[in-house]
Amino acid sequence: MSLFDLTGKVALVTGGNGGIGLGIARGLAMAGASVVVAARDGAKSEAAIGELTALGATALAVEIDVTRDGFGEAMVGAAVTRFGGLDILVNNAGISIAKRPEDLSLGDWRAVLDTNLTSVFAGCQAAWPALTARGGGKIINIGSMYSLFGAWYSAAYSASKGGVVQLTRSLATAWAAQNIQVNALLPGWIDTDMTRKARARAAGFEEAILARTPARRWGEPDDFAGPAVFLASSASDFVTGASIVVDGGYSVEGSV
Ligand code: NDP
Repeated sequence: MSLFDLTGKVALVTGGNGGIGLGIARGLAMAGASVVVAARDGAKSEAAIGELTALGATALAVEIDVTRDGFGEAMVGAAVTRFGGLDILVNNAGISIAKRPEDLSLGDWRAVLDTNLTSVFAGCQAAWPALTARGGGKIINIGSMYSLFGAWYSAAYSASKGGVVQLTRSLATAWAAQNIQVNALLPGWIDTDMTRKARARAAGFEEAILARTPARRWGEPDDFAGPAVFLASSASDFVTGASIVVDGGYSVEGSV
């Protein structure tokens, strides 16, 4: 079990106040890490801190917007001030705007790219000095099935999430010698606020996903606890630049 032990480690999760981010935060907390939750909605973050504290973790909420310049330095600075350093960064904050490409405004495009991709680069760059100061660390970036696939409604989202995979590979090669492992998790269809909206909008959508998913269920935020602990722990010290799908078999289903 010590392979997966995160006692004494400090983790920072963007968008850690709900959905997949909170599932990851719970996993890291249960493995022993102190957790910083960084997001916009302060009330939601305080509720998340309550949950993490109840699990026995020390936790801190930081109010940031990942589309604002300097957010990375602010959240990493808060982690270092409160806990003395940073070992694990999870870039999870994300949004989706589902429109046909001909209807997607440049503003929509920029909002999705800024939130889902540029913020990952900026967050990693801001964390680098703190991670190297500890002799290395772990970065986990959250991609998507749309890192792999396209769809009529996903031009900006797929571009951003495909970019997350390539950015992950580039940072992994750049920082391997500094003992920083950079990997991605690619979620399938997970029951969160983000997908609840889509499920409510489109009739038959929920059933179509179930029929296509070999596990015959939607994923839950807690399905990310184990994969995140693996990528955050010494168990994955020779794993870098990888993108691991967490999708109940959705992306390998080939039956007709
Ligand atoms: P949620 O909508 O439940 O959570 C999104 C999180 O991101 C919230 O905590 C939100 O917090 C935060 N966030 C959004 N915009 C910003 C911003 N500008 N600054 C700071 N924080 C922000 O979605 P999920 O949990 O489903 O999504 C989490 C990640 O997983 C995303 O990257 C998403 O693309 C990805 N994903 C999700 C899938 C799914 O099926 N659910 C499938 C594939 C990928 P707040 O509003 O307080 O800022």
